Amino acid sequence: MKYIIKNGRIILPDEILSNSSLLISDGKIEKIIPDGQQISGDYEEIDAKGMYVSPGFVDIHQHGGAGYDYMDSDEDAFYKILNIHLLHGTTSVMPTSLSSDTLGLERTIDSYKKAKKDERIKTNLLGLHFEGPYLSGNQAGAQRADKLRNFIPEEYEHIIEYADGEIARWSVAPELDGVEGFAKACNDNGIVLSIAHSDADFDTVVKAYDMGFRHITHLYSAMSTITRRGGFRVAGVLEAAYYIDDMNVEIIADGCHIPPTLLKYVTKFKNYDNIALITDAIRPAGTDIKEGFSGSEDNKTPIIVEDGVAKLLSREAFAGSIATANRLVRTMLGIGVPMVEAIKMATINPLKMMNITLKKGKIEEGYDADICIFDDDVNVKYVFSNGNKVSG
Ligand SMILES: [Zn+2]
Repeated sequence: MKYIIKNGRIILPDEILSNSSLLISDGKIEKIIPDGQQISGDYEEIDAKGMYVSPGFVDIHQHGGAGYDYMDSDEDAFYKILNIHLLHGTTSVMPTSLSSDTLGLERTIDSYKKAKKDERIKTNLLGLHFEGPYLSGNQAGAQRADKLRNFIPEEYEHIIEYADGEIARWSVAPELDGVEGFAKACNDNGIVLSIAHSDADFDTVVKAYDMGFRHITHLYSAMSTITRRGGFRVAGVLEAAYYIDDMNVEIIADGCHIPPTLLKYVTKFKNYDNIALITDAIRPAGTDIKEGFSGSEDNKTPIIVEDGVAKLLSREAFAGSIATANRLVRTMLGIGVPMVEAIKMATINPLKMMNITLKKGKIEEGYDADICIFDDDVNVKYVFSNGNKVSG
C-alpha cells in the first residue's frame, strides 16, 4: 500500500514543514515533496489539514492498558495493551515488568516471545524492560515490598539466558550488594542499565555511572534526594541525575506524577536530548476502570484511579499512570516546550538512550513509516506502523 499524506504540518527533527506532502511506500518513508508536485503511481490520499504529522511515539516504560498487564497469563494481554496504546499513537514499546518471583519473570519472557509471533500485533516490540526485583525496600513505591531482593547471580544469570537476547533494559537499585557482577552481566549482554527505586547516595550513583548506568527510571518517583546524616547533608539520586550531564532521565509526563513547575525545572536543568517521556501506564490506561490492581492476578497491588492517575489505596503514593503517550506530549507543550523538542522526547530520544539503532523515531527518507497524525490538542486521528494504516 502507498500513501500520500497531504496538507499537514510535518514534524522533522529540527523544524516543522508546511506546504509539503509525505509519501509512504513499501513500509518506508519514501520522500517529502513540495505541494503541487506531480507524482505517478497509485497512492491513497490522506488529508492532514489542520493537523501535525509526527513520528510514531516510543514508550520505553509501559506496564499495561486496556484492562491488562504484561505480566498477566492471559493470551490476549500483549495484543490488547499494545493495541490501545497504538490507537493513541505509540508505534514502538518496551513492555515492562514489575517485581515478582522468578516464575513471574519467566512467564513474562514467554508471553513476550509469543507476542513477537502474534500477527495481530502491529506495534514494534523493542525488547523487555525489567523493573526490579532488585530494588530498594525504602523506595518500593508501588512495587510490592515482599517481592524485592538483593542481587542473586544465579537468578539473573538464569533469566538472561532464559530470555535469549530479549531483555533490552533492566531497572535496579545500584546500592544493593553485588551490583558490580550484575552490571557486568548486563553490559556483556547489551542490556541497558537504569537506576530505579533507589535509596543510593550521590557517590554511589557516580560509581554506578562508572559501571555503565546512564539512565534514571521515572525521575522524582521512588528515589533518594537530600537527607541528613548526623546533621550533615547528603545528596541522593535526584541530585546526581542533574549533576551528571549525560545521565539520561525519563519522566512520567502525565501532569500528575511531576507537577508543571517541576517539569519546567527538569527541562531547564537537563538538556532536551537527555529527556524521554514515558507513560509508566498500568492496567486502567485507555479505559474508565476506577478500581482494581496492578501486576498480575497472583502478584497484585490494589489501586484506585482518581484525578487522572492511579493511586495506592492509602492515597499516599501514585501507583503508575493511566496515560497514553499523546497526553505526555500535550503536557510538555502545556509547560512551553517547543513541539519539535516534545516530539523528540517521545520518539528519537528514548530510542537513542536505549541504544536502538533501528531506522525509527524520525521522519526522514528511508526511515520506517511509523507515523501518527494529531490535531492541535494532540488527539490522534491516524496511525501508521511500518507503512500500514492501523488507525484512522
Ligand atoms: Zn517504578
